[in-house]
Amino acid sequence: MDAPQQEAAPFEIAGESLAPGTVRDLAIPVSQQVSGFSASLALRVIHGAKAGPAVFVSGAVHGDEIVGTAIVQRLAARLDPAALAGTVILAPAVNIYGFLSHSRYLPDRRDLNRSFPGSRKGSLAGQLAYTFLEHVISRCTLGIDIHTAAIHRYNLPQIRIASGDPYLVELAMAFGAPVIIESPLRDGSMRALAASRGTPMLLMEAGEALRFDRLSTDIGTSGVCRVLAHIGMIDADDGLHTVGIPARANKSSWVRAPRGGVTHRVRKSGDVVHKGDLLATVGGLFGEDAMEMVSPIAGIVIGHATLPVVNQGDALFHIAEVEQLEHAGERIGSITEAIIASQPHGPAQPLMDEDEVI
Ligand SMILES: [Zn+2]
Repeated sequence: MDAPQQEAAPFEIAGESLAPGTVRDLAIPVSQQVSGFSASLALRVIHGAKAGPAVFVSGAVHGDEIVGTAIVQRLAARLDPAALAGTVILAPAVNIYGFLSHSRYLPDRRDLNRSFPGSRKGSLAGQLAYTFLEHVISRCTLGIDIHTAAIHRYNLPQIRIASGDPYLVELAMAFGAPVIIESPLRDGSMRALAASRGTPMLLMEAGEALRFDRLSTDIGTSGVCRVLAHIGMIDADDGLHTVGIPARANKSSWVRAPRGGVTHRVRKSGDVVHKGDLLATVGGLFGEDAMEMVSPIAGIVIGHATLPVVNQGDALFHIAEVEQLEHAGERIGSITEAIIASQPHGPAQPLMDEDEVI
């Protein structure tokens, strides 16, 4: 387990060879576009001086979900190959097509996260999925894929994992997002593919499409660093014993608008609610005939719509049922405060000495 202190061997990727303790940016051609030019998968490979595991961190698999791009940029600035044991592959904008057009999808209208494993001769989405599998997933022993809520929605930073895997729970606890949700694997998703290959994967959901927000970026950056510390790749505290324990859930419910109109929200993501608590009112254009929306269960609000103009049936709140609800609010508050405090621009009392060692 302490073998990582050994000097690393060179890391071979896409026909290039990285010496230990070096960084290389790669642009791997995916497929020819209308213009005749080829779009490329942008990767930064940080190959540590010491031997260790290989981990990827990816953003914008859905092209408009760009919080992962901000987190990857922070990691790129912080991770020092001289102090790293193992290899980190950063992929800031996996679906570069959707990233350019501010769209979740690819130009062929497919969803990349339903297109794995893909194939070299498949659709555009299939070719991109295959390229990512061949050069990234198949080279790594752990992956962290970062998503956000859809446009006009916000997700409380949360980790989603397949249920029934104690090692994934351990990694998710090390990551330290306020909530861990055990959710089923979808066919064609990166997570389902990774599971079928025996590669552990964490999926982070945080924030809103086409926006950066500081809480999501802070929690994501700290979380990845804590996981890297937990598996011995960087010399830092994994925080497992110093930060609050995340709330865990394996069931969640959506609450939908009972009528069309204009909503006034009184609850937001991160709030603890009890059955029957008022979440929002929805009324007409003058505020007339307002109807109340109440929580159908006790839990934590893990996502909410940010646009007050709604149609009947729009999903406005996502509420997770958690164990030990009475402590969940304190936990979320303490985790959020500890993570914010650990950031270089936050108050003193660092969560981990990441700026010194990585
Ligand atoms: Zn997504």
